[in-house]
Amino acid sequence: MDLGTKAIHVGQEPDEATGAVIPPISLSTTFAQLAPGTPRSHYDYARSNNPTRENLERCIAALEEAEFAFVFSSGLGATTTLLHLLSSGDHVICIDDVYGGTQRYFRNVAARFGVTFSFIDFEGDAYPKALAEHPNTRMVWLESPTNPTLRVTDIAMVAKQTPPRVLLVVDNTFMTPYCQQPLKLGAHIVMHSMSKYLNGHSDVIMGAVALRDRALADRLRYLQNALGAVPSAFDCYLVHRGLKTLAVRMERHCDNAMKIAEWLEQRSRMEPKRIHRVIYPGLASHPQHEVAKRNAARPGAFGGMIAFSMDNAAECLSRMRLSTLAESLGGVESLIEVPALMTHQSVPAAERERLGIDERLVRWSVGIEAVGDLLRDLQDALDASNAS
Ligand SMILES: *Cc1c(COP(=O)(O)O)cnc(C)c1O
Repeated sequence: MDLGTKAIHVGQEPDEATGAVIPPISLSTTFAQLAPGTPRSHYDYARSNNPTRENLERCIAALEEAEFAFVFSSGLGATTTLLHLLSSGDHVICIDDVYGGTQRYFRNVAARFGVTFSFIDFEGDAYPKALAEHPNTRMVWLESPTNPTLRVTDIAMVAKQTPPRVLLVVDNTFMTPYCQQPLKLGAHIVMHSMSKYLNGHSDVIMGAVALRDRALADRLRYLQNALGAVPSAFDCYLVHRGLKTLAVRMERHCDNAMKIAEWLEQRSRMEPKRIHRVIYPGLASHPQHEVAKRNAARPGAFGGMIAFSMDNAAECLSRMRLSTLAESLGGVESLIEVPALMTHQSVPAAERERLGIDERLVRWSVGIEAVGDLLRDLQDALDASNAS
């Protein structure tokens, strides 16, 4: 089955008891037993497992072509649980411009429990060097493309260079399985903030992991229950409902982003002093465009995030009416921001400079509105801020 079909049907079979086409939300925290220690089904207490969450987990596993999936109360809840696969003294190699919340958790919290981290750029031979330098490496944490500069890493290449004792985790939040399937490229675990594209409607905070290895899944099931960062049944229902349109949403996100990136690139040729750079992995001008094509799960699947650098960015953005000036991403509505002043404000200034995140850089989570309306909004804002 194609991903778009699985998103609609897996974990959404009609209810056995009533025939309801949409399975009911299961709110019970506990399940009646036949005799002491003999539950009627495989459910006993809802932190351990419950039907609504299980339906969603089955669907996520199917979409990532995994065998197992586990969902959590947030993306960071998923990350925290994954880090508990490790022990004090273990080392993690992480991409340097990883999501800010992941970096904060790694540096300020997990490091206090004796796990050590290196943050590297995976270009060239930096990764084999880091592995050689840290023989206690147990986990590699990758995001591709990165946020907000959309650098792309060759996931299959990193997987090939990863020794058997090391777990390769890919945070696939920006791409979703519609655009990129890290397990197929050789990663062991794929992680998501479902608060973004998978839910897609900017109204739930939730996370997920998906994987193929049974022994590792058993450990994660244990940790999911033992740590308890689990989502509510209501939220699982909402995410599952959002997932059903994942394929059509992502197709439109990619389409709109490509058209806007091309439009911006053309405008930058006309006004090179004003628009300095347009970054989108789908553009031939992107430095890792060929790698992005290899990572893509289907032709043209480069995601809905674009970045560009312009003078007077803050003023132009405050003039936009349709694209809301706000943090976060991945919803049906367009959101635009200046990372240096918003999402990435807490990144130290020197680090921001090294990564190319200055006050001219704009990040746009391109929504699924009609692209003509989005372009008109941008053009009006550009013209108005030009004139002033
Ligand atoms: C938002 C996000 C997270 C964290 O997820 P939450 O659901 O906000 O906890 C992790 N990684 C990436 C790439 C994100 O965008």
